[in-house]
Amino acid sequence: MSNSLKDRQAESETPASRLAAIRARINKAARAAGRDPREVTLVAVSKTFGAEDIAPLIEAGQRVFGENRVQEAAAKWPALKAAHADIELHLIGPLQTNKLAQALALFDAIHTLDRERLAAALVKARVEGAQLPRLFIQVNTGEEPQKAGIAPREADAFIARCREVHGLAIEGLMCIPPVDEEPALHFALLDKIARRNGLARLSMGMSGDFETAIALGATHVRIGSALFGSRR
Ligand SMILES: *Cc1c(COP(=O)(O)O)cnc(C)c1O
Repeated sequence: MSNSLKDRQAESETPASRLAAIRARINKAARAAGRDPREVTLVAVSKTFGAEDIAPLIEAGQRVFGENRVQEAAAKWPALKAAHADIELHLIGPLQTNKLAQALALFDAIHTLDRERLAAALVKARVEGAQLPRLFIQVNTGEEPQKAGIAPREADAFIARCREVHGLAIEGLMCIPPVDEEPALHFALLDKIARRNGLARLSMGMSGDFETAIALGATHVRIGSALFGSRR
């Protein structure tokens, strides 16, 4: 496709039309897999986009959003959340313990619990009176050294420690497959680890592979560029 044609198509799209198209694809993928589309939550990943880009999606009915940086989320979401009480904000990027208090004040779910230190810090915050968000454990399914997440072979023990030693309610697992590998293998591995640990939720699938993720059991798809356009 020529660039000018692409540009014209992009112009004719609105946030609402892109949202409707993505929802339709989610529904179709869920039905094709014999699943109820309502089991799949669309997490609209708004990183790098400002309130002016996010507002039209809220307007169009989207309520669940994802951000990968605490600092960036803290700059734009308190006002949006104050204006729309039913918005759910999910942290999908790494969490440093020194940003934990700020994160707990902002996020309704954290997809990136991946180490003992963070689990202990969450427990400490709870003891001090914080209400903990819903928690997903990130698994580094590709065992990439530069990527966050617990190694697959350590996942069972970490999940058990989070539950039994720390008393944390773990909702599910999250993964980000390596860019150059078949994502289905990673989604299937995440599903396998979740099943043997009795975890019902899977945060997996992004703009390029969410239909595959839904076929393999995703309950939370994290979609950015397909909704907002390419990031700045
Ligand atoms: C940015 C991001 C996404 C969204 O990626 P797209 O390819 O733009 O849909 C999903 N998950 C995580 C963890 C991200 O950082």
